[in-house]
Amino acid sequence: MPIGNPDRITVGIPLERTNGERRVALIPPDIKKLNAKVSFVVESGAGREAGFGDSTYVEAGARIATSREILDSSDVVVKVRPPRFDEMPPAGRTLISLRGPDPNVGELLRKRSIIHLALERMPRTTRAQAMDVLSSQASIAGYASVLEGARALGVLLPMLTTAAGTIKPARMIALGAGVAGLQAIATARRLGAVVHGFDVRAAAREPVESLGAKFIAVDADVGAGEGGGGYAREQSRDEQSRLRRALSAHLATMQLIITTAQIPGRPAPLLIDRETLGMMKPGSVIIDLAAETGGNCEVTQPDATITFNGVCVMGPTNLPSLMASDASRFFSANIRSLLAHLLEGSGRLNLDASDPISGALLAGQDVARASVAAA
Ligand code: NAD
Repeated sequence: MPIGNPDRITVGIPLERTNGERRVALIPPDIKKLNAKVSFVVESGAGREAGFGDSTYVEAGARIATSREILDSSDVVVKVRPPRFDEMPPAGRTLISLRGPDPNVGELLRKRSIIHLALERMPRTTRAQAMDVLSSQASIAGYASVLEGARALGVLLPMLTTAAGTIKPARMIALGAGVAGLQAIATARRLGAVVHGFDVRAAAREPVESLGAKFIAVDADVGAGEGGGGYAREQSRDEQSRLRRALSAHLATMQLIITTAQIPGRPAPLLIDRETLGMMKPGSVIIDLAAETGGNCEVTQPDATITFNGVCVMGPTNLPSLMASDASRFFSANIRSLLAHLLEGSGRLNLDASDPISGALLAGQDVARASVAAA
C-alpha cells in the first residue's frame, strides 16, 4: 500500500542492520529539502546512532514506520549498505545503495528483478561530484585513519618540548594519494607529524606537496602510473615487486603508514610485504584502508589487528561509521543531489540508460528507460 500523496513516489529509509554500521542514508535537513516532491518513510531508530532522532525526521516531514512497512510501501528504498537477505525490497522495486564486495548481492537483486542503483558506479565527473559517496566517505576514512593510527602508536605525532625533554615528531606516510590519502596527509600535518606521500600517478605529486608533505620519488623502473578516468593503472606482478623493493627503505623509516592504494574493480596492489615489515621499527603502525579488496600489506586481515615483527597492522573496513554523524551528513547530501537529478521536477524517478549518471549506476542491468512512479 503506498502511503502519502499518490501523485509522488515514496522513498523509504530503513535502519542499517549490518554489524557496526552507524550511518543513515538520508538525514532530516535533506528530507526537508525534497519533501515537496517525495514522501518519506523512515524506520524508527534509523538515524539514532548518527545523532538524528525519530522526532527530527517527523519535523522534517517524514513518517516513522517499521521495517516491514518500509519495504512494503516504498517505491524506492535508500540505504548505505547493500541489503541483507531479509532487507530486500519486493520484486520490481528500486534500491539505491552501495553494492559492496559480495558478488552474491548483485546476483540476488537481479534474480528478484530489483532495479539497483549501485553507488560505487558513480562516474568521476564534475557533474557527478556532488553525488559521489565514494569520495565523501573516503575523505572521512582518511581523517579517521590518522586518529586510529595515532591512538595505536606509542609515540606522539607532534614535536613536544617539556621540562622532561624534547620528543621528535613522528614520521608518517600515506601510500596512495587519492581522496583518502590526501585527507590522511592533511590530518597528520595538522597533528604535527613529519608527513610524506607516495602514489604511482605522477599527477599526485602536486596535491601532496601543496599540503606541505614530501612526495617520495622512487626509482623502480615501472611504467607510467596513470590509467583511465583519473585512476591508477594496474601494475604487473613484476612492476609491483620492483616498487615494493624501492619503497621498502623509505617505509622502514616511518612510524605511521596509512595505505589507501586501490585499482577500481581489481585486487589492491601489494605495497608492503613481510620483508619490509621485518625492516620496520617495532611499535610502528600501519592502517590499511584497502583491507576490503585484499589489502596493501601482506598480513592485513579485514577488521582485525595483526602484529608482525612488533608492527601493528590494522585493516578497518568501515572507518566512516566511527564518525557516523558527519559521514551521514555527507552521504545524505550526495543522495539528495542524486534524487534531485533523477526526479527532474516530475515527482517520478527517471531512470535512463543514456543519461551519464543513471546509465552508469544501472550498468549491467536490462533497464533502457524506466520511470518509477508512485505505486
Ligand atoms: P582510488 O581509491 O581508486 O585509489 C587511491 C589511490 O591509490 C589513487 O590515488 C591511486 O593512484 C593510488 N594507487 C593505485 N595503485 C597504486 C600503487 N601501486 N602504489 C601507490 N598508489 C597507488 O582513488 P580515488 O581516491 O578514488 O581517486 C583517484 C583519482 O580520481 C584522484 O585523482 C582523484 O582526485 C580523482 N577523483 C575525481 C573525482 C571527480 O572528478 N568527481 C572524484 C573523486 C576522485
